[in-house]
Amino acid sequence: MPTPPPGRRKRPLNPPPHVYTTVGLDRRAELRGDPRWLAARRRDPATLVLPMAGLRVPVAMGEEGPRAHLLPLGEFASELPEEAVFLGLVEGRPVFAWSGEGEAPAAVDTVELRSVGSLLPPRDAGLLAYARALLHWHARHRFCGACGEPTRITRGGHVRRCDACGLEIFPRTDPAVIVLVTSGELCLLGRSPRFPPGVYSTLAGFVEPAEAPEDAVRREVAEEVGLPLRRISYRSSQPWPFPQSLMLGFRAEAAGRRLRIDREELEDAAWFERDRLLAEEPPVRLPGADSIARFLIEEWLLEG
Ligand SMILES: [Zn+2]
Repeated sequence: MPTPPPGRRKRPLNPPPHVYTTVGLDRRAELRGDPRWLAARRRDPATLVLPMAGLRVPVAMGEEGPRAHLLPLGEFASELPEEAVFLGLVEGRPVFAWSGEGEAPAAVDTVELRSVGSLLPPRDAGLLAYARALLHWHARHRFCGACGEPTRITRGGHVRRCDACGLEIFPRTDPAVIVLVTSGELCLLGRSPRFPPGVYSTLAGFVEPAEAPEDAVRREVAEEVGLPLRRISYRSSQPWPFPQSLMLGFRAEAAGRRLRIDREELEDAAWFERDRLLAEEPPVRLPGADSIARFLIEEWLLEG
């Protein structure tokens, strides 16, 4: 849920590396190609497992708030199936994500990642985001897009292969641009009909084939609000595992202020004064504390 406005804090919430970025995980991609090592880890009681329930992530409540619930394999099973996905090493220990028949072990609570994202330690949010994105990809690529036959999991869960035609399918990440447009002491925020009531955010859209991210920024802003841009600068990026985007965050200066809003895309868009957004009772609610959108807005607000 969106959190209250930043008030007069000095630093933006959740600066880079943003929430859902994998920090503290060593991916060890070379181990994905070692089936004997993987098979031994799938039987090792000390292997750590994230027991998912579909796309719901395992979370335990600790004294300092929620944490990822990493369970030693030996506490609930003797062996992990091939479908368990090898994520990498955390503090030297292998970690797998696994979703059984939509059920986590009884002692584990699972939640929607977005409901706890900004409250988790950064390592845990990144680990759970990675697991969620990979399991989502597996669930939607069980058949070959070229010949229609079933695919099977391989390389520790980082490739699916079609034995009928030989096609190898890799996890997908969709690049998207997200941009805070400014003009002097004003910034432009818009509202999609999908947003919770009162929330206004930065503009965003997917990068199209053979399009540079900067060109996608120009195109999206022109399409959604009819504004030409003067200067575009890259800020930072955020993996966004809902389900599989990579948000590339920009700031841009508008070359005008007159808006021509595309009402199919946006319910509303408007210019907001910095001081009004920083006031005790701002005119709108800002996007969730886990989002790069929130960071892009706060970073600019706090420069004033
Ligand atoms: Zn095929």
